[in-house]
Amino acid sequence: MMGDWTKPHLKVVLVGNSGVGKTSLMTRFVDHRFTNMYRATIGVDFLTKELTVDKNTVILQLWDTAGSERFFSLGSALYRGAHCCLLVFDLGSDSSFRALDGWISEVLLQTDPADPAERGTFPFIVVGNKTDLQTRQVCSERVQQWCEGLGAEYFECSAKENTAVDSAFITAARAALRTF
Ligand code: GDP
Ligand code: MG
Repeated sequence: MMGDWTKPHLKVVLVGNSGVGKTSLMTRFVDHRFTNMYRATIGVDFLTKELTVDKNTVILQLWDTAGSERFFSLGSALYRGAHCCLLVFDLGSDSSFRALDGWISEVLLQTDPADPAERGTFPFIVVGNKTDLQTRQVCSERVQQWCEGLGAEYFECSAKENTAVDSAFITAARAALRTF
């Protein structure tokens, strides 16, 4: 661990409704595993992983809202100091997609700089999860269009089948590094 503190610690928060797969995506990326068990943890969960992005070795800190999504507002602790946010929804749940606007406001309340000139620069990455299920309610074009307005990249993933999970997190790490 010696010298660990010299590497940039990038804080990436995962937000989105309960059950969309935030914990599963983190676990897949960091621990290379998946479980069908639903575990609504209370408190804040985080996992870290060292990785190399554009020749920089960084420590990626991934934070999940850990069950407190039910209360929606988590106060400032989770988001404070975040460098990037992954907005996660379930492709099989239209309401989880529509909830993202609310999540964005919540995140920006805590991360947007006081100076209006610097606003609107906080990076978001959007993840539609559970591509493996045949119950899609949200079409790609609609999300893509919405992402353009946000200036966010969009990934369709499956934590279960390990589809595009690495790409989404590496893109988040790269965006986080730019704001670091
Ligand atoms: P969170 O509340 O957003 O952290 O969601 P979880 O990661 O706890 O996942 C909620 C449920 O969805 C669990 O039962 C997971 O096993 C399941 N799940 C998560 N990701 C996927 C996926 O990609 N495909 C499928 N089929 N199920 C998933
Ligand atoms: Mg969770």
